[in-house]
Amino acid sequence: MAALKNTRSLKTLSVLRPNYGSQVTIRRNLNLQEYHSKDLLRKHQVTVQDFRILDDSLNPKALSGFRANEYVVKAQILAGGRGKGHFDNGFKGGVHLTKNPNEIVDLAKNMIGHKLITKQTPKDGIKVDKVMVAESVTIKRETYLSILMERSYNGAALVASPAGGMDIEAVAEETPHLLKTVPIDIYEGVTDKIANEVAEFLEFKGALKKKCADEIKKLWDLFLKVDATQLEINPLVETDDGRVVAVDAKINFDDNAQFRQKDIFALDDVSETDPREREAASYNLVYIDMDGSIGCMVNGAGLAMATMDLINLNGGRPANFLDLGGGVGESQVSAALKILESDPKVKTVFVNVFAAFFRNCQLCNGCQRYRGGVQEKSS
Ligand code: ADP
Ligand code: MG
Repeated sequence: MAALKNTRSLKTLSVLRPNYGSQVTIRRNLNLQEYHSKDLLRKHQVTVQDFRILDDSLNPKALSGFRANEYVVKAQILAGGRGKGHFDNGFKGGVHLTKNPNEIVDLAKNMIGHKLITKQTPKDGIKVDKVMVAESVTIKRETYLSILMERSYNGAALVASPAGGMDIEAVAEETPHLLKTVPIDIYEGVTDKIANEVAEFLEFKGALKKKCADEIKKLWDLFLKVDATQLEINPLVETDDGRVVAVDAKINFDDNAQFRQKDIFALDDVSETDPREREAASYNLVYIDMDGSIGCMVNGAGLAMATMDLINLNGGRPANFLDLGGGVGESQVSAALKILESDPKVKTVFVNVFAAFFRNCQLCNGCQRYRGGVQEKSS
């Protein structure tokens, strides 16, 4: 099946399922910026470094009273691979270390307002609006830990690797024996036994093993409490002063839990979302932009995916994935057509909906014109 966007979360799942690119997720699960995720971690007693945030005002007051031996300056975007990324202004790296507090604002200036391009962003990159300034830690070792809802286990799983850091996708592909996956019983949770085994696999020794096991259990508690679908710590580090610290954090949430996680969903940063996706979401439609020329209007995710496959198999390229869902009214169909027609890539529109669907629609003669076939775009 056609692959949709290469978002950070899909990339992460590819660690567990390298063929994930052939599958499609149509839900837009809430995805928080690193600094919001770290706030949640901190509230749940997971060990993270202290940090401050600089925004486009670059006001140094945001850093007043913040002292560390060394600072790490990190661009905040909803994609990973920042350390090895580069900016559209030529500046290299979305993660920088400095011991000089006077250098922080200059580093941030090179990031804020510019697009950061990483392995996980669209090819033009994502504009950086905020920068995290954190106290640096001296890293002895980087490991990888994530907890996610895994369809093939019908439940949660813990994924761990002693070879964490910036190249975890390569570890999954080239040295899969360095990746351990442990299914977790949702009722039993992460037991002491599991936490210790994973800490051992991550090569934490002596007193550090217990510290790591404790962090893993706290992360599990957080995963459950916030209705996460994925919680990824990469790297989970061992520091030179004998601590286990979550240095990077990525959390995705189950959209079905929005009603009981209102505070978290209020943090949703939609500035990185395609405006057409936002417009569609306001009409309760699922719209995802793709790079072809055939606009698709379909009802039902299964039919939408089959339609995209059909188009691909016949040499076409879908311009989008648009699922009207069930029980839509005229205003939604009208909004859907407007979204499709506003996309300059769209040369034709393929309407593939259940015939009964349009029976009572008084929209315009467009329904008749578009019904069940590929038609030339009218405007
Ligand atoms: P990304 O995964 O987007 O590249 P990370 O936050 O994981 O971003 O940072 C990339 C790398 O930068 C880490 O693997 C680590 O080696 C280093 N790094 C990040 N934060 C710190 C920190 N606070 N102290 C020291 N090194 C850090
Ligand atoms: Mg990372």
